[in-house]
Amino acid sequence: MKWLLRRRSGPAAALRHEHLSRSSSMGESEGAMLRDRPWWCSRFVRGALLLTVSGSNAQGFMMAPNAGSFFAATSGLHRAASVLKSLQPSATRITESRENALSAVSVGKEIDPVYGGEKAATEVVVVGAGVGGLATAARLAKAGCRVTVVEKNSEEDIGGRLNELLMEGGFRFDTGPSLLLLPETYRETFAALGRDSDDFFEMRRVSPTYKVYFDDGESVDLSDDEGELRRQMDRLEDDGFDKYKAYLDSAQLNLEVGLPNFIEEKFTPGRLPEFALGALFNSPLENHYGQLRRRFDSPKMRALLSFQDLYVGLSPYNAPAVFSLLQAIELRDGVYYPMGGFARVGEALGTVCRDLGVKFRFDSPVSEVSVVGEGGRVNSKGVVLASGEVLEADAVVCNADLPYAEEALLPASVSRSFENSEYSTSVIAFYLCSNRRWPQLSHHTVFLSTDWKASWDSAFGKLPGGELGESFNFYAAAPARTDPSVCPEESDAIMILVPCPSIPDDYTGEIDDGASASARATRNGGGPDREDWVRRAREGVIREMEASAGMEGFGDSIVGEEVYAPWNWRDRYNLRRGAVFGLSHGLNQLSLLRPGPQHPTVNGLWFCGASSRPGNGVPLVLIGAKQVAANVLKVVEGGNT
Ligand SMILES: Cc1cc2nc3c(=O)[nH]c(=O)nc-3n(C[C@H](O)[C@H](O)[C@H](O)COP(=O)(O)OP(=O)(O)OC[C@H]3O[C@@H](n4cnc5c(N)ncnc54)[C@H](O)[C@@H]3O)c2cc1C
Repeated sequence: MKWLLRRRSGPAAALRHEHLSRSSSMGESEGAMLRDRPWWCSRFVRGALLLTVSGSNAQGFMMAPNAGSFFAATSGLHRAASVLKSLQPSATRITESRENALSAVSVGKEIDPVYGGEKAATEVVVVGAGVGGLATAARLAKAGCRVTVVEKNSEEDIGGRLNELLMEGGFRFDTGPSLLLLPETYRETFAALGRDSDDFFEMRRVSPTYKVYFDDGESVDLSDDEGELRRQMDRLEDDGFDKYKAYLDSAQLNLEVGLPNFIEEKFTPGRLPEFALGALFNSPLENHYGQLRRRFDSPKMRALLSFQDLYVGLSPYNAPAVFSLLQAIELRDGVYYPMGGFARVGEALGTVCRDLGVKFRFDSPVSEVSVVGEGGRVNSKGVVLASGEVLEADAVVCNADLPYAEEALLPASVSRSFENSEYSTSVIAFYLCSNRRWPQLSHHTVFLSTDWKASWDSAFGKLPGGELGESFNFYAAAPARTDPSVCPEESDAIMILVPCPSIPDDYTGEIDDGASASARATRNGGGPDREDWVRRAREGVIREMEASAGMEGFGDSIVGEEVYAPWNWRDRYNLRRGAVFGLSHGLNQLSLLRPGPQHPTVNGLWFCGASSRPGNGVPLVLIGAKQVAANVLKVVEGGNT
């Protein structure tokens, strides 16, 4: 192999000068290394650059742009890779094997990345041990990165919003998710990590999918029993069942096109032509309620097939009709439950992370993502903990809620504003221990108001004064029907979720703090009395369950309870506005218009979680983790997930 080596003269010196003048953008340690030590840069006849840093045992190669294929290769000190990347940002392949690099240079092909053990090149800090942070951390560790997950909450809270509450008397509650949808996304995540999800938790199908009560006492079981479903739907509307089947066919089409193309972001022509043709008659972008009104005469049928829009932070009045895919997921593919509770999913991911060498720092809130450089694109260099400790990293993956992180963790010079973005609702969650088992409830039961428009206006703060209305929809999870381990026999562990408006970030409400009504009004800045929402929601829920579902004596059967109000969600997980489903998924915050995985101006800063792409819900966050890990590896190491 033939080298043309120049020492501090000619083109190499010019290159060195240019490089040092940009040292702030490549990081202080690399800059210092080059300032303090002699180094050489040479041009290789095949168009590759050689960089040697004397005394540091660091050496690297990089293909010049005109060679068509870019890569960087280092041996010895892995930081030299960053130097090469700052010289040529499009370098994507990194190896620590000198032989590997030399042979690749000599034949002009890309290098198979070499990862693992002590030689792992890339340090990654993940902010947050939610499902998104854990899945991303595990994928990156599997690919050979050195990963540290930093979480503000304690070890028993691993999994973030996938959490549980244990209460006296043997009651256990999932505090967040209770519907396991798209089980394949869970299986795929574990399989990609070399594990089988069945070894950690069993996903059991729940039947019936839902029971629905209307506030006039009418009820419907959304089950697999077609004969029974026909009888119930035809009672609500002439040919109700046939119309329902036709609707589900179009929902299925939305799912088959929407999931791969807009959520997984892998172009899959499949049924696209059929989708495009169908769109001429049923636009997937018109509002969901409008489409349902054309298909169904019965307001109850419309309500049955649109309450799920809440999961994506929308109401049927502003959700694009493409979200009928949610009904295809639930009513065709089914709803599942992880036996033992959702916390097992977070725990399992934590176990896999540890097996792959991921390090955890619990009770360690991050106070800052540090960046270096000024103007234009800057680089993230790690994080600063609230304790003042600095953790350096080549890449930072932020799993903490994106709008919160932009505002609270990033320097003002690079942070984006999400002040005027649209947020999902919050929820008031009641965890109720009942000393009776209630046959009126299914595992999943939904209580719907017949004052449909007002109930959604209530949840989204559109009633006068932003108040919570008198009629609202709510959801009850009573998992003892599927998983007897949640409570003693003859008892019930019931989680109730009442959607309510999100709250201002500076709201300081507290439950039962003894403040008078006038003191609360002052404290609320004249806004609605949100503390009173909790009392009213509880009363309304018990009244409705007793009246519509015939659960007489339910209120008196409650022997223990806990409440999470919007401000508890906000403070526990740093969720901006207490919006439990993150940024909503309206057309202007959907697919490519939703914040993507990579920060637009901070190199090496990535986002994974409910408020970034593809969106909210555990399956989507798992899909997002796969995409983020793949992107991080492509940029920093050229590896594969
Ligand atoms: C009540 C409720 C019901 C739901 N129901 C369902 C359902 O049935 N099915 C479903 O699929 N999804 C459901 N979801 C949505 C689902 O829970 C979320 O989409 C998902 O859990 C989000 O995961 P994540 O990793 O993005 O965020 P999170 O779980 O919020 O994880 C982020 C982590 O970052 C940590 N963090 C924040 N700030 C910092 C900081 N400064 N320093 C260090 N750590 C920090 C947080 O403590 C948290 O652990 C529900 C959510 C809620 C709240």
